[in-house]
Amino acid sequence: CGIVGYVGKSKAAPIILEGLKRLEYRGYDSAGVAVLEDDAFTVAKKRGRVDELTKSTRAQTLTGSCGIGHTRWATHGGVTDANAHPHVSSDGKIALIHNGVIENFAAIRKFLLSKDYSFKSETDTEVLCNLIAYHFAKEPESTTGGSRLLESVRRTLSHVEGTYGICVLCVDCPRELIAARQGSPLILGVGKKELVIASDVAALVSRTQNVVYLNDGELVAINDDEFEISTLDQADVSPVIDQVTWTI
Ligand code: GLU
Repeated sequence: CGIVGYVGKSKAAPIILEGLKRLEYRGYDSAGVAVLEDDAFTVAKKRGRVDELTKSTRAQTLTGSCGIGHTRWATHGGVTDANAHPHVSSDGKIALIHNGVIENFAAIRKFLLSKDYSFKSETDTEVLCNLIAYHFAKEPESTTGGSRLLESVRRTLSHVEGTYGICVLCVDCPRELIAARQGSPLILGVGKKELVIASDVAALVSRTQNVVYLNDGELVAINDDEFEISTLDQADVSPVIDQVTWTI
């Protein structure tokens, strides 16, 4: 339902939680956040309101400056803490949030079970992080000289039928965030030494008014304070930066 991703110099969790609050008006049943710190993900997620999630994160140290957050509107699997996003691949390498529906998730799940990946949720979404982890493990070197994580995401999406807006983090790529969309909105906010991804401008205008609207079939690869947009077919896309004329 709602997506917020952050890579910058500030602590990611408070910025993401504030962004999720701004998306509440769209409706949701669960919320979650994952930040990357010291080569591991710290994940907090639960059914219920963003305020409850924010309260529960006070007991945790969410100090990383790279993270993703989600408000879920369940389509596959009940409203439970385990089904809330972010989801982490069973090898612990990939964390992911997803808006939309993966139509062929059952076939992908069967394939991944045969490759010894396991599942902790009933969602269609969890196949995405495990399939990215599978491709990431299978190709230890980049084949194009670019981002290995981007290649793994692109390979995964070539097997996926359905709709998605996704944000992906990887423990081995600490300053990278990959986002992609097909039938579900995503906007990149270009701030001062920070980049924000959101499914709705309302979640990012308090950080920046410079935005790039992504189109269906596009991916953005963030590496620290730089970004590159490309298509699923590997064509480069020149970004058009728009100014949002309102703030909050
Ligand atoms: N299909 C996913 C799920 O049920 C994502 C739902 C959403 O867009 O929030 O977990």
